[in-house]
Amino acid sequence: MHTTTAPVHLMNNYARWPISLVKGQGNQVWDDQGKQYLDFTSGIAVTSLGHVPPKLTAKLHEQLDTLWHCSNLVHVPQQEILAEKLSRLSGLDQAFFCNSGAEANEGLIKLARRYAQKIKGTDRYEIISFEQSFHGRTLATLTATGQEKVKDGFAPLPQGFVTVPYNDLDAVKSAITDKTCAIMLELVQGEGGVHPAEEAWVKALRELCDAHGLLLLIDEIQTGIGRTGTWFAFQHYDVKPDAISLAKGLGSGFPIGAVVATKEVAAAFAPGTHGTTFGGNPLAATAGIATLATMEEEQILERVAHIHDVLIKELEKLKAEHPDKVVTVRGKGLLLGVELTIPAGEPVAYAREKGVIMLMAGPQVVRLLPSFVTTDDEVKQAITVLSEALSQV
Ligand SMILES: *Cc1c(COP(=O)(O)O)cnc(C)c1O
Repeated sequence: MHTTTAPVHLMNNYARWPISLVKGQGNQVWDDQGKQYLDFTSGIAVTSLGHVPPKLTAKLHEQLDTLWHCSNLVHVPQQEILAEKLSRLSGLDQAFFCNSGAEANEGLIKLARRYAQKIKGTDRYEIISFEQSFHGRTLATLTATGQEKVKDGFAPLPQGFVTVPYNDLDAVKSAITDKTCAIMLELVQGEGGVHPAEEAWVKALRELCDAHGLLLLIDEIQTGIGRTGTWFAFQHYDVKPDAISLAKGLGSGFPIGAVVATKEVAAAFAPGTHGTTFGGNPLAATAGIATLATMEEEQILERVAHIHDVLIKELEKLKAEHPDKVVTVRGKGLLLGVELTIPAGEPVAYAREKGVIMLMAGPQVVRLLPSFVTTDDEVKQAITVLSEALSQV
């Protein structure tokens, strides 16, 4: 069924593209008309190892034939393996598993409040977040999100959040009160326009947190699991967060989210304080383990660095070819934004028509999130099509 109109029995909460994808292999996907596309979005930073990666498929098949689900009232060995891997890669200590990004950030927010109130013995609860940020669609996470459009019509919103300008130290300093318990941020704002945090600012935030007894919470849902060229974006900054949230790339497309924290902070979640039915079930945790194992075996961070270099070279050429339309290229690793002087919707639609799927991040930014197994030729194909698209509009 070729779907170009709003489906009758699905809620109309997405502005869907007029295509239906039915098959994927590596970086290629096919629609229901048999048309082939290069996926330069990785399903929004999810399928970082490409679609249906054979090693992961084999591991998931094995687990499908063994045990899908059990409750968190029992030990789940796969969770322990995945938590150990995440702890080793992040330098943090303990993980909690859930099913999505928003749920991971809910966990992060609850952990920070409970740590302040039960471990530190204060009555602090307020969290400082940033303009243009995106933290999810639940009531708490949309309140932390620094974009008015996601809040419209959902009042009353939970209390205890303040939003200040990004990369602005004075704004953070003046927002700290005796109620503040944490600062929460993305290190490259993904949905909000691909804005990287400045290194000196992030270091200063860590110092502020230490001076005021606040937690530094990093939302690594889009930036984590290799996307920016390090396992976690905070590793570019020479700071250690108190806790991070993960989701998107962690399961290569199988839904899984996580909160990972230092032992001291994690201690705030005593038995019965937080939980989920599905979180980290054997299938989901297997997807996470297989994702990380494959990335380690294939030395994927080196691939990310290589593809980044090729992509940046092509984007510099693009900028030189279209000086009137390309303002700047920014981002880290394979989370890149091309800011235009014109709306990005038309070139992105043109590229899709020509068989390359790209995203937007705000009205004038083309967001590129290729997989970590993208070839040099595929990079050239994508940017050639984007260049054509810019010539057309
Ligand atoms: C996608 C995203 C979320 C929300 O994740 P969901 O799985 O859609 O709930 C939160 N924070 C960031 C930075 C994201 O990119």
